[in-house]
Amino acid sequence: MPSEFELIRRYFVRAGHDAPGPARGASAIGDDCAILAAPTGLALAVTTDTLAEGTHFLPGTDPRRLGHKSLAVNLSDLAAMGADPRWFLLAITLPEADESWLGAFAAGMFALADAHRIELVGGDTTRGPRTITITAIGTLPPGYALRRDAAVAGEDLWLSGATGEAALGLAHLRGAVKLPAADAAQCVLRLEAPEPRVALGRKLRGIAAAAIDVSDGLLADVGHIAEQSKVGAEVDYEALPQGAALAACSDRKLADECLLGGGDDYELAFTAPAAKRGEVAAAGRATGVAVTRIGRIVAGAPEVRVLKGGKPLAPQRRGFDHFR
Ligand code: ADP
Ligand code: MG
Repeated sequence: MPSEFELIRRYFVRAGHDAPGPARGASAIGDDCAILAAPTGLALAVTTDTLAEGTHFLPGTDPRRLGHKSLAVNLSDLAAMGADPRWFLLAITLPEADESWLGAFAAGMFALADAHRIELVGGDTTRGPRTITITAIGTLPPGYALRRDAAVAGEDLWLSGATGEAALGLAHLRGAVKLPAADAAQCVLRLEAPEPRVALGRKLRGIAAAAIDVSDGLLADVGHIAEQSKVGAEVDYEALPQGAALAACSDRKLADECLLGGGDDYELAFTAPAAKRGEVAAAGRATGVAVTRIGRIVAGAPEVRVLKGGKPLAPQRRGFDHFR
């Protein structure tokens, strides 16, 4: 049985990635703290997210995808602020030292890390119920963060990609719906291997006003912008993009619940003045991510209304809350 230190050395310390130096901007893994080279003139964006087995992922989830997702959910928070990813820490708790599981987990995590040029600089390894906590650190010019409290009445409301397929994939895995095989594969991929919209978030710096990443459900997360900005929001149901698998789902009630309140989408919802429509579209084209105008910010109570055929839909179940 390998020791804790042997596991860290084998799976989390990488040759060539662990040399301290200006490119890495951090000390090698192995001391009591990581020492980071504070970037002059930039602000730090720091975030942490936990994935716990049974709560955030099903037992038996493919470890490669879980490694990807554990980092992806944190990169998505950096994207939502418009930050450039720099460093991350990994706290991992495992029921046993399963080396094939660890190898696959690390491969999935580092493939995404390398794609976004973010470096693992330290962490913690313990035994217990399977839980992964990543803390990610990014940088951005001071004053350029995309905040939840910056939306203004009259602005457009935008969405990257499309929502709903991750939640539909989870419904399929739980047996609540039976999707055709190709649609099931697409939805489960969206659930287990989300692509954080890092490049788009960075491009939206100086263009978007408010932004949030959609993790708890579209209406819930737009609701956070509304509450923190003290404005209302209107979402045009007909404008919402739907992926092919969601559009083909025969259970329309379930499909709409996933679309509006499903969660685990890791898309960006953001606002921008109407004068910046061209710049938003260009940011989408430059980063290869579809961006769609889905509604508007309005004056008034901090509520989100969904309009279908111009008329408000009955209030929706808005999204996921761990304590409800
Ligand atoms: P300490 O006793 O100071 O908490 P640890 O024994 O937990 O230190 O960790 C030893 C070194 O290995 C530290 O530099 C720590 O950051 C690193 N480390 C531990 N677990 C991980 C991990 N899962 N990923 C990356 N680095 C890790
Ligand atoms: Mg110590």
